[in-house]
Amino acid sequence: MTTTAEIIIIGGGVNGLACAYDLAKSGMKKIVVLEKGYLGVGATGRCGAGVRQQWGMEENIILARESVRIFEKLPEELGFNVFFRQGGYLVLIFDEHEYDLVTRSIPVQNKLDVPSRLLDPKDVAELVPGINLDGVLGAAYCPTDGVCYPYAVLWGYGEAARRLGVDIRTHTEVTGIDVLDDGTYSVTTANGSYNAPRILNVAGARTKDIAALIGIDIPTKPHRHEIAVTDALKPFLDPVVISLKKGFYFSQSLRGEIVGGIGDDNEPSSYSTKSSIDFLFRYASALRDVFPALGKVRIIRQWAGLYDVSPDARPIMGAVDGFDGYYHACGFSGHGFMLSPITAKLLTELITTGSTSIPIDTLGLTRFDKGPLTKDPYVVG
Ligand SMILES: Cc1cc2nc3c(=O)[nH]c(=O)nc-3n(C[C@H](O)[C@H](O)[C@H](O)COP(=O)(O)OP(=O)(O)OC[C@H]3O[C@@H](n4cnc5c(N)ncnc54)[C@H](O)[C@@H]3O)c2cc1C
Repeated sequence: MTTTAEIIIIGGGVNGLACAYDLAKSGMKKIVVLEKGYLGVGATGRCGAGVRQQWGMEENIILARESVRIFEKLPEELGFNVFFRQGGYLVLIFDEHEYDLVTRSIPVQNKLDVPSRLLDPKDVAELVPGINLDGVLGAAYCPTDGVCYPYAVLWGYGEAARRLGVDIRTHTEVTGIDVLDDGTYSVTTANGSYNAPRILNVAGARTKDIAALIGIDIPTKPHRHEIAVTDALKPFLDPVVISLKKGFYFSQSLRGEIVGGIGDDNEPSSYSTKSSIDFLFRYASALRDVFPALGKVRIIRQWAGLYDVSPDARPIMGAVDGFDGYYHACGFSGHGFMLSPITAKLLTELITTGSTSIPIDTLGLTRFDKGPLTKDPYVVG
């Protein structure tokens, strides 16, 4: 049996469900979401929950700022508590190069209404009691950054989308796509086929595989990233503490656990989501360096997920020349949760009106042919 729709969304992660909601709210009637597992089984359900506006490139700052503005209103919008806690983000500075980067970036962020500021080591110690300041020259701090519960955002968007009539089909893996003579897309799954004039490919690290089914080449690579959780502790850590140089991030959850991760430059590209003992040692050592008092705290859980990494670590978003009705968003390189509300808003504008309120032309696939590529120095991991 073939189900027809106005748009087929492939991927039931935060981007798929946020887009489904925004499209339904814009008036689109027949929207189908196809998810091969359960909702959130991909990167969304494994992510570190960080939401920050401190970036180096103006375009990234603007996207993140707009996302935060949407996050702030999401509970009202969706009728769902998404647990957005704006405890700030503290970017530790370990050398002159980072000091120079941060002092150049803060005025750019401030000009764009992001209230970041420079802290000296004494301010850092006041903000985060017990932090080890050895080698710390200071930090950049933005009080309106924070963390948001990924499953709540996912479920909030999903439930609100369902209320607007979106048909969300879990355990429905897309195995084939054909472009028919009339220009519509025929999508094959084990549970039947689907037909629509538009498809939105937001399959996370598998977006490139879905695109390849119709001959679109996306130059992203999957990379495993691991994450761990400690026993619950008394609340002591408001901001997310990160290091651009050392690649770690730590935050304290509502339950009191320290949640964090650390990147590994030597991690090869793969679809592995296995946990490793090597990560556990590197992570525990980084956590103990930053918070010596946590040396004896137990790590109770660890898991892994995939970063979908683009050559310049910036998202790939929009339409593709020669493929009318095809849209995608991927390549978030470990930062796609924080951008999901603005991604959904902009893709919805593009799909329903043909243009976007914030330019996304620099996020298209063609940039990889044109070059040169610019990587934001605030990418972690
Ligand atoms: C350890 C870790 C920590 C992270 N920390 C942060 C953070 O602190 N802040 C932040 O902003 N981002 C973070 N990220 C990145 C963030 O999780 C992702 O960028 C974001 O969740 C991407 O959402 P998505 O909906 O595009 O993809 P996903 O959540 O991966 O969803 C894609 C969905 O597509 C489905 N799918 C794939 N193939 C098919 C198919 N053939 N048919 C049907 N469905 C299919 C998958 O099952 C999956 O559910 C982190 C990621 C990891 C792994």
